[in-house]
Amino acid sequence: MNHIQFESFGPQNNWICGGYHDSNSTKTISVVSPYFDQEIASVPDSNIDDLEQAVNAAKKAFPGWSRLNIRDRAEIMYQFKTILEKNMDELAHLIALDNGKTIEDAKGSIIRGKEVVEFSTSLPSVLRGDSSQVANGITCTMTHEPLGVVAGITPFNFPAMVPLWMIPLAITTGNCFILKPSEQTPLSALKMAEYLKESGLPDGVFQVLNGSQKIVEGICDHPDIKAVAFVGSSTIAKIVYSRSTKVGKRALCLGGAKNHMIIVPDADLESTAKGVLASSMGSAGQRCMAASVAVGVANVNPIIEQLVEEAKNFILGVDMGTIISRPSLDRITSYINDAEKMGAKVLIDGRVSPPPKGYENGYWLGATILDGVDPEWPCAKEEIFGPVLSIIRTDTLENAMKIENNNPYGNAAAVFTTSGEVAKTISQASKSGMVGINIGVPVPREPYSFGGWNESKYGHGDITGKSGVEFWTNLKKVTARWPESEEAWKKYF
Ligand code: NAD
Repeated sequence: MNHIQFESFGPQNNWICGGYHDSNSTKTISVVSPYFDQEIASVPDSNIDDLEQAVNAAKKAFPGWSRLNIRDRAEIMYQFKTILEKNMDELAHLIALDNGKTIEDAKGSIIRGKEVVEFSTSLPSVLRGDSSQVANGITCTMTHEPLGVVAGITPFNFPAMVPLWMIPLAITTGNCFILKPSEQTPLSALKMAEYLKESGLPDGVFQVLNGSQKIVEGICDHPDIKAVAFVGSSTIAKIVYSRSTKVGKRALCLGGAKNHMIIVPDADLESTAKGVLASSMGSAGQRCMAASVAVGVANVNPIIEQLVEEAKNFILGVDMGTIISRPSLDRITSYINDAEKMGAKVLIDGRVSPPPKGYENGYWLGATILDGVDPEWPCAKEEIFGPVLSIIRTDTLENAMKIENNNPYGNAAAVFTTSGEVAKTISQASKSGMVGINIGVPVPREPYSFGGWNESKYGHGDITGKSGVEFWTNLKKVTARWPESEEAWKKYF
């Protein structure tokens, strides 16, 4: 495995108006590395005075930033992209340390986030505006205008990528941004603030406010914050959405997931086994795009056997990192224990996987595969958010679709088949926002937008791509009539 060096960063601050800023709060939150079960930093549990300072800094920066032409704003994003690339090792190390990802996984997540930065550099072309003559002598022009001060609240599982879904589009369109990162994984957000400053971003355009529930509630309620994007569990997504929209704020809140993969007997053996495993176990199952239920239609035993063979070769610390915390590890393990008691067959048992040498104190759980799972059991219905795959057996494609569509979430679904007809039927019938055909993690690449349906999202639109641009802007329509002079026509034409 890649060597993860223990490092202690001590007390961290907020980032306000282009620099580190002491908090007004005396309360702190401990940041623990899941590789070592040891504190690596602490961040302020910020209070409402801190929020006020962040909002004031953003408000002060807004007139100048929003007036700057979009080419110059996009140029800063171009510099930011280069700095992200140059510092990939540094950022990946921070993500590995506070989140528990492998270095390779952490780098993959930065690369995915960087795609949104790249897309934001194309905004001068994408947002060039529409204009046409709508009546004799009358022209209508439509432009995307920034909202003002806006905010993003992000989860632990992608400490750099999820903020990167929001920051580039929000600020390139002319807004000033306040990020409230997960208190479990705040280190890369602060590092990205330094990179943005180095890229030439004016002070006050970007703030990082550390904290927990109080700050989230303050963001929802604040009259000067015009929009809030949230990514996290469905329970909190729903709370943030209703609290923000109640005061007239624009909100887009992405929640949790329970994604299914339908496997039919004609599926390609090797690539299906690899795809199913990568989807369920990648990032130790801690991603909203992880498919944690495989629905096998009729006899898919050869594929399951191949899957088990592949899973046996999974090495902790190489193929997957740690679980985020001890309570999460205990919660995930209890899903496995309960399913076993209910009669599931444990084909691969991650509870007994050996931890990597030198990291024995970490929160490890190996790849786990449960067979013969009933669709009504908790492991089949609830978001486990760990490296646990539940296999449900069924006879028909129709039943498989029912199982998939009965779940209240709607983030992603996948089908593994060599039949075009089956693939088409599933993708049309699925009630998920993102569908994979022979792809277990169907994350749309930019500029196609990211976002689920149903209980996986509260609010309209998606978080990235053109849809993200629409979220962070208002449309302005200017209709103009200029006096026309007959004389000028005669003279010049
Ligand atoms: P979480 O909901 O616990 O936390 C997300 C954010 O909400 C954090 O910044 C946290 O500080 C804040 N928060 C937590 N409790 C709060 C409360 N009571 N009131 C106000 N704010 C609160 O999520 P998490 O555990 O950090 O992340 C995992 C979850 O995120 C999973 O459910 C996963 O599916 C989801 N997720 C979804 C997507 C997506 O695109 N749909 C992407 C990544 C993660």
